[in-house]
Amino acid sequence: MDITDIRFRLSGIVKETIVDGPGIRLSIYMQGCPHRCVGCHNPTTHDYGGGMESSVSEMAALMGEGGLLQGITLTGGDPFMQPKAAAALAKAAKGMGLDVMAYTGFTFGEIVAGIRLGKACVPAVGRAGGEAQAEAGNGRAGGEAQAVGWAGHHGLTPAEYEEAFLRVAALAKRASLDASVCATDAVPPTGVGRIGPSPIAEAPADALGGFLAPCQGLDGFAADTFRDWEALLLGTGILCDGPFMADLASPALPFAGSSNQRLIDVGRTIASGTVSIWAPDLSLG
Ligand code: SF4
Repeated sequence: MDITDIRFRLSGIVKETIVDGPGIRLSIYMQGCPHRCVGCHNPTTHDYGGGMESSVSEMAALMGEGGLLQGITLTGGDPFMQPKAAAALAKAAKGMGLDVMAYTGFTFGEIVAGIRLGKACVPAVGRAGGEAQAEAGNGRAGGEAQAVGWAGHHGLTPAEYEEAFLRVAALAKRASLDASVCATDAVPPTGVGRIGPSPIAEAPADALGGFLAPCQGLDGFAADTFRDWEALLLGTGILCDGPFMADLASPALPFAGSSNQRLIDVGRTIASGTVSIWAPDLSLG
């Protein structure tokens, strides 16, 4: 399938905005959000069945209208709840020379943890149930995998989809999988465990069975979804992360609603292994 054929649920768009990131931007509000932040300014974006259907090609046409557009902003809702479409939108934008900013209610650590968790939970290709091999890090861990028939989020009801995401995020928090990227990240906005060795990176393969046990039941869902999370993260230049927190809200924050939310330079963060906060390029020429 051509990525421009990918369809998704859209809440709305704002053309030529200057409030959702640097420069003049096309903001794409994606439908669906599990976070339920108190004081959310966009509650109509929460319902996964709300909004309207759109496609990457329709959005690409808007991106191609030219003008002084610097980039696109993926917001919502939470773009990480429709990650395949969001990653495709980011890829289309970059192909047109536009930069990409994304907002998410997940923290950067949760996203990294989810990607790692997905890789750890990759089921054997073609497995329908019974014995499965789960690949993790340098080793392989075997385990009984429960066949639950989750072929991907399109096979889930919205409630099941939301429950699965929250479950994965909770598992990821408990496992503190984001240690290597976030160990130097001094401000854990939502209490995500950040210090300590990664159980996946550090544990011997045969010790992973216990850790992987909670993943059983996520089946292809985790692997497919978090592969898309990874593509979306790698396609994003600036990530505004974390939930909106009303008690930390300030209208003075550039491009963020509350002070726990960080504008993360994704490229520098991945290159350095340390969360790097984006700063505008003020150089001349
Ligand atoms: S992440 Fe929070 S603020 Fe953003 S749409 Fe979802 S509930 Fe609202």
